Amino acid sequence: MRILIIEDEERIADFLQRGLRAEGHFCVVANDGEAGLSLALEGDFDLVLLDMMLPGMHGREVCQTLRMNKVNIPLIILSAMDSLNDVIAGLRMGADDYMTKPFSFEELLARIETVMRRKSEITSEEQSISTGRLAFDRQSLRFSVDGNEIKMTAKELAIIELLMSNPGTLFSRERILSNVWGLNMDPLTNVVDVYIGKLRKKIDGDNAESMIETVRGLGYRLNID
Ligand code: CA
Repeated sequence: MRILIIEDEERIADFLQRGLRAEGHFCVVANDGEAGLSLALEGDFDLVLLDMMLPGMHGREVCQTLRMNKVNIPLIILSAMDSLNDVIAGLRMGADDYMTKPFSFEELLARIETVMRRKSEITSEEQSISTGRLAFDRQSLRFSVDGNEIKMTAKELAIIELLMSNPGTLFSRERILSNVWGLNMDPLTNVVDVYIGKLRKKIDGDNAESMIETVRGLGYRLNID
């Protein structure tokens, strides 16, 4: 899964990121409310973990703005504010769950599972996506072309999953960058182009025409014809 962690405390963000990565998830961290909100609004994540006391914009406002914009992404609040009123307020503003800090990582995993199960019952979101000759199983993290498994790094998988989520749609470099590396990257970096090059080598084989089309000056899109 692609998980957005909105948390200003570096120690906690690191702890979450390390644990979730070990479980096979892909994480992006936003260190303040505004950055987190803009990433979540782009709508390319499967889950948001949201702290409440954040610089810039309070977590409450992040959550409310998302729900007001009809962004129904699963969202779990992780907060040190542990009174019953805080918990009730959090759930009322549209969070799917509320965990008080400190919490155990095992419990967080269990709550994530529950929230995702509930959401997938509602949206019946598929465990695997396939687009043309490409297939990606979100559970096992297996990626294949024409049924042949191809080994990918976490970042390569994150990019191809993003492109596959909307085949034919143009993804700007900035959008790919913010979705895979977060917002703290130098916008002039060519890291996206480098990774697209690696992906092409892996998925195109000997074909002259790449499945990933370059739209000059704008970005990339996945062609499935
Ligand atoms: Ca905080």
